[in-house]
Amino acid sequence: AKRNGRNRYELFHPDLEAASRVRRQMEIDLRRALHRGELQMHYQPIIEKEGCRISGYEALIRWQHPVKGQVPPMEFIPLAEETGLIHELGARALNLACQEAATWTNGATVAVNLSPVQFKNSELVKAVALALEDAGLPARRLELEITESVLLANTEGNIRTLQALKDLGVRISLDDFGTGYSSLSYLRSFPFDKIKIDKSFVRDMGESREAMAIIRAITGLSSSLLIEITAEGVETEEQFRQLQVEGCSHFQGYLFGRPVAAEHRVEELDTRATA
Ligand code: C2E
Ligand code: CA
Ligand code: CA
Ligand code: CA
Repeated sequence: AKRNGRNRYELFHPDLEAASRVRRQMEIDLRRALHRGELQMHYQPIIEKEGCRISGYEALIRWQHPVKGQVPPMEFIPLAEETGLIHELGARALNLACQEAATWTNGATVAVNLSPVQFKNSELVKAVALALEDAGLPARRLELEITESVLLANTEGNIRTLQALKDLGVRISLDDFGTGYSSLSYLRSFPFDKIKIDKSFVRDMGESREAMAIIRAITGLSSSLLIEITAEGVETEEQFRQLQVEGCSHFQGYLFGRPVAAEHRVEELDTRATA
């Protein structure tokens, strides 16, 4: 066992060292990215019920690394959260999204993702108010997307923060709904304006009775709780049709449009896509 242990140590030690080196380098790169403007927002349309109007866009962060090219958010958001860089990154994302949304002529909303770590910042509400004011964006055109994890730790404090955000006039969405293990109970803790059904359920709904049952449970709640339901990850006409039948009010996914840079954003759908 001892020899095994040593072998394992010898096998894995260099890997661990390499991994932590990569991580440190990524942190340095990310810090530089924030200062050099290598981060930008992409926008993905969110479609209203009948499928013909764009009601809003989700703002999704993109990092154009000078050497590695596009780094996916799932590779740097967790690192930004661990290192505290998420505060600066989140503020940047929020400000960019508000400023860009203020120029849109279709009055669409912009949905910005908030990391649970940003709730540790006591100035979060002030930062949101300031971003709106600086951009001249009416609060009702901003949506903030949070995940259940915001309600896991410091529940009472974070609910107060959510309420203060809502009092500004912004709307609060519960993202990735259904992926947590006690999702339904969270709906009682705060009056969310919107639920986003996680794309894994939409992906599986054709083959999995379970996925379909969860979608039904969520849409069944919406009418009684007066919550709007967005289905994310809609890729096929068949998914779109079935989600409409189930009572979803909003739709997002590659079927309607991928996230694109601000200058490529369209204000109206190409009707051929949904005809
Ligand atoms: P999310 O908030 O659940 O965002 C939706 C993700 O689904 C996006 O991935 C989007 O590009 C992708 N998506 C949209 N439509 C489809 C579809 O039809 N099929 C499939 N397979 N995927 C689709 P993305 O942009 O890679 O972002 C991944 C995650 O990174 C986001 O998940 C969010 O958790 C996080 N993220 C992105 N931008 C930000 C940000 O500005 N701040 C924070 N805190 N997190 C962000
Ligand atoms: Ca989101
Ligand atoms: Ca989501
Ligand atoms: Ca997600």
